[in-house]
Order: sequence, then structure tokens, then C-alpha cells
Amino acid sequence: TARPLADPAVVLQRRDASFARVQEHYYVAPPQIERGWKHHLIDIYGQSYVDMVNNVTTVGHGHPRIAEAARSQWSLLNTNSRFHYEELVRFTERLAELAPDPLDTVFLVNSGTEAVDLALRLAFSYTGHDTVLSVREAYHGWSMAADAVSSSVADNPRALDTRPDWVHLIEAPNAVRGKYRGPHSARRYLVDLDGDLQALEDDERTVAAFIAEPVFGNAGGVLLPDGYLAGVYDRVRARGGLCIADEVQVGYARLGRYFWGTEQQNVVPDIITIAKAMGNGHPLGAVITRREVAERFADAGPFFSSAGGSPLSCRIGLTVLDIMRDEDLQSNAEIVGRHLKHGLERLGERFDLVGAVYGMGLYLGVELVSDRAKFTPATVAAARLCEELLLRGIIVQPTGDFKNVLKIKPPLCLSVASADHFLHALGEVLGELSD
Ligand code: PMP
Repeated sequence: TARPLADPAVVLQRRDASFARVQEHYYVAPPQIERGWKHHLIDIYGQSYVDMVNNVTTVGHGHPRIAEAARSQWSLLNTNSRFHYEELVRFTERLAELAPDPLDTVFLVNSGTEAVDLALRLAFSYTGHDTVLSVREAYHGWSMAADAVSSSVADNPRALDTRPDWVHLIEAPNAVRGKYRGPHSARRYLVDLDGDLQALEDDERTVAAFIAEPVFGNAGGVLLPDGYLAGVYDRVRARGGLCIADEVQVGYARLGRYFWGTEQQNVVPDIITIAKAMGNGHPLGAVITRREVAERFADAGPFFSSAGGSPLSCRIGLTVLDIMRDEDLQSNAEIVGRHLKHGLERLGERFDLVGAVYGMGLYLGVELVSDRAKFTPATVAAARLCEELLLRGIIVQPTGDFKNVLKIKPPLCLSVASADHFLHALGEVLGELSD
């Protein structure tokens, strides 16, 4: 017998009554989702949507191998990392192998926020220094420390005035619409950074760390100008600080050609933070660093996370990596991502509303502008466009300080057919909005 359908509007009211409203939902009248399959979401009426936004569900929704891994591990054993079991060893060895040399030591936690928080603590304890450099318009998480290094005004309108003393914000290295533009703009951002570092030194402040995404994810997937990270890392290290690469969004094969975002910039960080993709939706996060950094932290006492590194988490993490390998998802991200980016660029030639197309692999962004020369953000049009695309069976959302950049980061199993469906619908809606 079919069970009665709950009215989605009523369920939404109940959600607002019991769930803190600050935890927003997409869309004015969101579809009530009931199931997922690969890169599709299906609502309670059987309407299917192409999911262009779910970068957590990297290997796709409803993957039977993950369901089976979770089921079998739950019925066998789930406990914490103070106990000795092989899943933990297999997972940390695998992550250490994936990380660039000389990063060889892994901490397991449950989210990106936790990973960032821990990375900052590692940097403070290793260096004994007092200040962290973070780029504007970034988002790194919600805990006191991860929020402190986050300055995206879309997430917090007062972000720029309310950072604590230990955070020093530097210019956002956005070579498309930032302070300095063009592929050769790294040098000019680095000159500004030299000024910042001198000012900190004059104030007797010392650099513990620099944290940034290696591709500017929160701004919509903007590639950093060539040589930017190498220049920053050199300067930070010359002052005894550590370099943290937040790979929570852009790392873990999403860029297609590269497994890690830092490869695109030709640098090796001191600390990597990962989460999201590694659990495909199961809460998993990790910090990968050098042994000596981890050892210095250990001097201050033990570190423990009740569920971080549980047999269940490790089994799921290993299964995600197995699926990525067996289904060749990094290559798929490269091939389908290239096709999609090309299609987006062609739409950019047809419609003035498209100011820029960013990113690589399956981490792409489309900046919508009302004036191309001035790069005026088309925030209202971006919101309208997302609502219109929903009616055409596509889920996509805007990001960035002005919420005018479509953030395209689907599961890595996205097919060419679904990419084409998205491009066709986007072309239609851009046409309507341009009329
Ligand atoms: N770092 C980056 C770059 C992120 O995008 C996010 C989440 N959007 C986080 C950290 C925090 O991750 P989580 O939501 O798993 O705490």
C-alpha cells in the first residue's frame, strides 16, 4: 500500500518550527526530496532533478557499495580510535599515500570545520606564533576558529569588521574581478602581501599560518593567478609560519586533471584539510601533515575525537576511494568538466549576462553580471535563474560575496547527457532573462 504523501509546504512549516531557521534551505518553495541516484535527486512526486550542486556526494547518491559497506561494518564493529582495529590503519595509510611528500601523518575528525580548527591549532603549537593570514571572501567553517578565518560577507555581513585580533585578512587574489586582474597579477598581490607582512612585523606580530583554498572555491571556482601560492608560501615560511591548504571543496579529484588543488599551483603545503567528498555525505574530515608538526602538537597532550576515525567512518572512506578508482571518476571529472566548461563559455559568447566562466574539472562557476565592463553583479537575475532552472529539473545555486556566481559542482559521475541537458536549459533561461 502506498503511504500518504505529506504536503511539502506543511512539512516546510514544521521544519521552520523545530529546526533553527538560520540553517537555511535552498529555494523559496523547495521540492521535498525523497531519494537520490547517481547525480539525480527525486522528489516525493517522482519528479527528477539533475543535481549540479552536491560536491559532498562525490561518487553519487545512493551508491550501493557505500550502503553495503555501512551495513556490514555496523553489524560487525563500530567503536572509537582508542581501540585497535585494521580499518583505521588501512585508511590513514591510503590517505598518506595520496598526499604529496613529505605529508605522511593523518588526523581523523568528522567535518571540514573540525579539520580547519585542528589545522590552526597545529600551526599555533608548531610555531608558537600569534597571527593567521587568511584571504578575503573565504569560507572555512563555523567553529570559533574556523569562523574567525572566514570573511565571506555573503555568509556574515559583518565579517570584515568582526575578525578577532589573531586573524589578519589579506586581499582576495581574484584575478578576474579583484583588485588586480589578469593572468600575471600574482606579482602585484604579492607586493601588497609584503606590505602586510612588514606592518605585522612593525606591530611585533608573528605569522603562525596562512590558510587558503588552492582554487578560490567560495568565489565560484576562480583559479589563482600563476605563481600566487608559491609566492605566498615562500614568504610565510621565511617568517617561520606554516601553509594550510583547505582542500575541503576543491581537492579529492574534483578538479579532474589534479587530485589536489595545490598541484594546479605547483606547491606542497604543510597541512591539508579535507572533508565533504571523502565520506560522500557520511561525516568525515581529516588533517594531513608532516610527522614533526603532529609530534609537536602531541607535546601538549593527547587528541581524541569520539567518532573521528571510527571503523564505520574508515570503511566508508576506503569505499569512497575504491569507487573513485574503479569508476575512474577523476577522469570523468576531467572529460565531462572540459565539455561542460566549453559549453558554458559558448553561452558566454551568446549572452552578456555571463561575465566570466571559472574553474576546471567539475568545479566550475558562472559569474552573472548586468554590466560586463564594470562587472556589476546580477544578484537578482542569479536567484531568478536558479528558480527557473528548478522548474526545468535542475538544481544549482549561487555563491560569492554578491551571490551572483553559479556554483557548478555536481557528483563526479555526471554524464555528458546530463551536462548537455543542463547547458540547454541554462541557455533557454539566459535567453528569457536577456529579453
Ligand atoms: N572549508 C571549506 C573550503 C568549505 O567550503 C567548508 C564547507 N562549505 C568548510 C571548510 C567546512 O566544512 P563542514 O561544513 O564540513 O564543516
